[in-house]
Amino acid sequence: MNIHEYQAKELLAKYGVGVPTGYAALTVEEAVEAAKKLPGPLYVVKAQIHAGGRGKGKFKELGPDAKGGVRLAKSIDDVKADAEDMLGNTLVTVQTGDAGKQVNRLYVTDGVDIAEEYYLSMLVDRATGRIALIVSTEGGMDIEEVAHSTPEKITTITIDPASGFQPHHGRAVAFALKLQGDLNKQAQKLAKQLYEAFLALDCEMLEINPLVETKDGNLLVLDTKMSFDGNAMFRHPDVAELRDVTEEDPAEVEASEYDLAYIKLDGNIGCMVNGAGLAMATMDIIKLNGAFPANFLDVGGGATTEKVTAAFKIILSDPAVEGILVNIFGGIMKCDIIADGIVAAAKEVNLQVPLVVRLEGTNVEKGKEILANSGLPIVPADDLGDAAQKIVAEVKKAA
Ligand code: ADP
Ligand code: MG
Repeated sequence: MNIHEYQAKELLAKYGVGVPTGYAALTVEEAVEAAKKLPGPLYVVKAQIHAGGRGKGKFKELGPDAKGGVRLAKSIDDVKADAEDMLGNTLVTVQTGDAGKQVNRLYVTDGVDIAEEYYLSMLVDRATGRIALIVSTEGGMDIEEVAHSTPEKITTITIDPASGFQPHHGRAVAFALKLQGDLNKQAQKLAKQLYEAFLALDCEMLEINPLVETKDGNLLVLDTKMSFDGNAMFRHPDVAELRDVTEEDPAEVEASEYDLAYIKLDGNIGCMVNGAGLAMATMDIIKLNGAFPANFLDVGGGATTEKVTAAFKIILSDPAVEGILVNIFGGIMKCDIIADGIVAAAKEVNLQVPLVVRLEGTNVEKGKEILANSGLPIVPADDLGDAAQKIVAEVKKAA
């Protein structure tokens, strides 16, 4: 789960982390009110979308010479003009894809006199099973490029969960950033605060780019991205509330309401499968037969007719889907339940694309009978290979 920059900054501030003062705004009037609360004379108006690269981004509706999604404003009138420019328009950045993202919120914040820009991030490192702190003096720019061309400028520090954050971790961060004196001390303190926040909030990733040294000698978090372990959100209702579903794929949001694991992909064959392993195998075998899956969808073990119907509708809501392959092993979930769901959903949505169904397991005969007697043009398949061949052939035939 991702949140917006201003929300992440508010969370970090609770752990003592230094951030510039700022206020979120949903309208031009709110943006102006926000600016009036700030001391000025320099303000920054920032588009709040769940994607980075906003500064260098471009608005679809504005000309190629228009400014991007992070703008320095020298007066309250400028803040107003920038807010009018950005709100409701579509920002395209290296991270949004060509479709871009509509800007519905702004963050109006203090302009900072920047002396240096640094990079600092934290993530759960699967290789070591530890939280890793990644720091670089090369902040503000594309960190992937820094990692590629000058990997020596990136330092990774991992923290043993048993002993937790130790003073030497803080010193290593400050050293990697080449900081002296008071700034060195600030960096040590910051690293500890970030680790505490990361752990306490069940973060998955925390990226600060840039972390800045101000001209008056303070370390401030100027931009941050924070994401959380979705499975831990029941422990943090206050964080869960920060979710902004308008930033997510609508089909994925609907799937999560039914507790379905759904991820949209680029192909044309919709898949409905139970179990993540079987779903992966199904996607592989579709590719082996020369086509591409339109989605990953795991209906899980204990699905009801209602859940299967929802899954079916979600797959069909994707206009790219030209055929559906259902591949279910009825263990906990019985084949006749699946069959009922498929028939009900196919009738409800007036299915127009070919549908191949492979059922195996508990009550398989009953399930096949339901499908055969449904009066729907469902193509039965005997095994995984047969199913994949049939759906690819059916889609070709229909095209
Ligand atoms: P993004 O990474 O999405 O482009 P950032 O928040 O990192 O957005 O902003 C891009 C650049 O804009 C920063 O690297 C920094 O140079 C400048 N910037 C951002 N916020 C401020 C601020 N409050 N004061 C001064 N400059 C800022
Ligand atoms: Mg940034």
